[in-house]
Amino acid sequence: MIKVIKIKAKRAFNPSKIPGAKYVINQYIGCQIACSYCYAKFVSRWYNYGEWGDWVIVKENMPELVKNKYLKGKIYMSSISDAYQPIEAKIKLTRKVLENMNKNIELVILTKSSLVLRDIDIFKEFNDIEVGLTINGFNNKIKREIEPFSSTHNKRVEALKNLHKNGIKTYAFISPIIPDLVDVGNIIDETKDFVDYYWMELLNLKVSGKEFKNWLKQNYQSAYEILNEKPKLESYMEKIVDAVKRKNVNIKGISINYSKIVKCCDRNGNSK
Ligand code: SF4
Repeated sequence: MIKVIKIKAKRAFNPSKIPGAKYVINQYIGCQIACSYCYAKFVSRWYNYGEWGDWVIVKENMPELVKNKYLKGKIYMSSISDAYQPIEAKIKLTRKVLENMNKNIELVILTKSSLVLRDIDIFKEFNDIEVGLTINGFNNKIKREIEPFSSTHNKRVEALKNLHKNGIKTYAFISPIIPDLVDVGNIIDETKDFVDYYWMELLNLKVSGKEFKNWLKQNYQSAYEILNEKPKLESYMEKIVDAVKRKNVNIKGISINYSKIVKCCDRNGNSK
């Protein structure tokens, strides 16, 4: 059973170092989707509520805090949580935040849940909004093991399709790219008709945690070796970049170990 901690936050928006974002907003801290590789797991050290995925902090005054606030620059929703994690279906905190938010804010949302479709009516009120789904195509067995409470791959793809059909700017965040487990080319082929742009990210093994590293080493030795050995990794990344360039889609970048971004290609396949 999930432990829910209700708090009152002091402010809604915080400055961010995430590439492309000026601020972030997190109406939740903690995430029930419970991905075992989650880079935000470090947050558990700040609190004493148990394992990542077992608790969630609800900032219940966030709908009030965003009222009449406007900040210039892109604002990313949910950097240490998922705005559409299971609890959201019941308490609708994200929906209330969106309802009260200034609709001129440049908002970017990323989720692993098809619950995002519930809020299409509010997305349409924003003048500059992008809604992304993290896509990785893990099969059901792997998904159950490493991101147990996310929507299935098919539901996420359908969500992108539906958002696009409703006139919302969409992006697919292909992440985490794990050699042998994620077929980037296939994902692009499956989604390119309803995705405005792509972001990609190689698994950051360093911050994925000891347990996840062990899981990968035991179950997917070759992927583990590629991610650990520089020459193998460079050759793998060259193949990925070549493959995606041939797809003629708009790729904003491929993030490698968070700080290094490989600029890739625009919709016409031109190098950036
Ligand atoms: S959905 Fe995102 S924030 Fe939630 S556990 Fe997974 S990686 Fe972490």
